[in-house]
Amino acid sequence: MIAKTATECLITLKGVSKAYQQPNGQKISILEQINLELRSGEIVALLGPSGSGKSTLMRMIAGLIPPSEGQIFYHNRPLVGLNPGVAIVFQNFALYPWLTVLENVELGLKAKGEMPEPRLQKALKMIDIIGLDGFENAYPKELSGGMRQRVGFARALAVEPELLCMDEPFSALDVLTAENLRFELLDLWLEKKIPTKAVLIVTHGIEEAVILADRIVVLGRNPGRIRADLTVNLPHYRDRKTVEFQTLVDQVYKILTNPELSCVTVTTPAESTATTASEAQPAPTPKYQSLPQVRTGAIAGLLELLEDRQEKDLYRLGQELMLEVDDILPIVEAAKLMEFLVIQEGDLLLTPVGLQFIAGGIDQRKQIVRTQIISNILLVQQIYRMLQAKRNHRISEELILDILEAHFSPKEAIRQLQTAIDLGRYAELYSYDEPGGEIFLESEVNNQ
Ligand code: ADP
Ligand code: MG
Repeated sequence: MIAKTATECLITLKGVSKAYQQPNGQKISILEQINLELRSGEIVALLGPSGSGKSTLMRMIAGLIPPSEGQIFYHNRPLVGLNPGVAIVFQNFALYPWLTVLENVELGLKAKGEMPEPRLQKALKMIDIIGLDGFENAYPKELSGGMRQRVGFARALAVEPELLCMDEPFSALDVLTAENLRFELLDLWLEKKIPTKAVLIVTHGIEEAVILADRIVVLGRNPGRIRADLTVNLPHYRDRKTVEFQTLVDQVYKILTNPELSCVTVTTPAESTATTASEAQPAPTPKYQSLPQVRTGAIAGLLELLEDRQEKDLYRLGQELMLEVDDILPIVEAAKLMEFLVIQEGDLLLTPVGLQFIAGGIDQRKQIVRTQIISNILLVQQIYRMLQAKRNHRISEELILDILEAHFSPKEAIRQLQTAIDLGRYAELYSYDEPGGEIFLESEVNNQ
């Protein structure tokens, strides 16, 4: 089956940024300078690690929240308030438990001011198309997860949106149910059983993106920027086992795992139509690295595994361990930050320090981590210097949090601090006095 020809421009984002104001007045930038077009005829996957601003971007397109800067156009006219052409399917289904399936599906139509009779007819038709026949009078709690999400789909599709937005719609479902629903949705789309003109699916699953999308837009973190815009030219229905499929998955994986890579615009397979080039802007060097939240044990586990195995390819290793990108990436990022490994063409290669770490006993390992975090992690460095500078070698965590909140959201600032404290504790560089909320210098290190 050939992808529909993309023509009419439904949504345009021009220089869209989103920042949130913190209670202390400081601004946290979530998304920066997003330029994006969504055209009729295409399924676009918005892919990125969690926290990269995918949901935020989708909510702006739906008109649920305004951008802080830049403009969003719907049919080339500035979007004001709710986007009338958009309906959303949520990850957690978002159904009203006290309403029946039929009543839930009718909701969107009611909000659009449809009269009772046509409303009922449209709802029943969509219930039929979506495979909920016979469940009209059931309540959400009587349904399985998969059936509940069908209600979510039926409710969104009943209003015949031009753009169907879905925020990780399959991630709360078990693997088989998710795969079935994915293909059923694809059927509806490819066989034009729904008048929807374009689909935007937010996901953190690479394979999900490659199975469904005509275009994959990759978002990066801190701040969220478009890192790649790939056109997928594989015919539907795609077979996960083919070389082309796996090559593309690998390619996307490499983009996701190489934050240094700036902006890429690619069409795959190689030939075929050009894509709109997103303005390539080198990502600004963040003042603080975003520390991935992982335990040192997990990093050690990964390094040991790398030493034991032939398999160095990050993607295949993840598959072998049955780890999702979101699970393995933070570990890899942490190991990279500490210079225990490098990523080369998607392969994870241990560095001499990494090898030393593996070979070392517990004390040597702590020593190595101590050296690596002092020289590579700005936050640890800063805490350590402040501790050394203070006469009593103690600082309050509030002080660090204040500094961090200029760069991260309050929640993320706490996570960052927690990670820096855990690392320092493991390395016996500093300790943490829980009740007092103070970080203090370990005397033995202090005396060195
Ligand atoms: P994703 O969907 O990619 O996981 P989100 O769009 O949900 O990411 O969030 C991106 C970042 O924006 C997160 O760090 C989140 O904490 C922050 N964020 C989202 N909404 C708000 C808000 N209303 N106020 C402050 N920060 C927010
Ligand atoms: Mg989200």
